[in-house]
Amino acid sequence: MDTIFSKIISREVSADIVYEDDIALAFLDIAPVTEGHTLVIPKKWSRNFFDTDEATLQHLFLVAQKIARSLQTSLGAKGVNVQCNSEPEAGQTVFHFHIHLIPRFGDDALVLWPQGSYEKGRATELAQKIKAAIH
Ligand code: 5GP
Repeated sequence: MDTIFSKIISREVSADIVYEDDIALAFLDIAPVTEGHTLVIPKKWSRNFFDTDEATLQHLFLVAQKIARSLQTSLGAKGVNVQCNSEPEAGQTVFHFHIHLIPRFGDDALVLWPQGSYEKGRATELAQKIKAAIH
């Protein structure tokens, strides 16, 4: 599947690359939520979090941790949001798996999601359904 990220991997499109190995590539997001917002992607195409194979996923998250630590030491990030938007309903716009690393500085404008609550018994019902479907 050809996306803007495959063009970045093949260097047809330029990007500010911060890390590369045989499996992974990481570069700055062109439209950062905060300064240093980085995307970690596999060189081998998968659509998103749902279909990425186990070995690739493991490797990518280890790379993501290394880069998150470097965002602390190099940019002074106080925290990081690690996010994989998967499918359009979750905000995915580029259909090549990627991990967003959004460094947080305490004075930025990113506001996280609103939270709700459960009616009595609903959480237990949902937990049972989810548990039964895990393979
Ligand atoms: P998604 O919305 O799929 O979770 O995230 C896709 C991300 O890719 C967006 O944050 C967007 O800014 C970034 N992006 C899209 N096109 C380019 C590009 O050409 N270069 C870079 N560096 N980032 C891009």
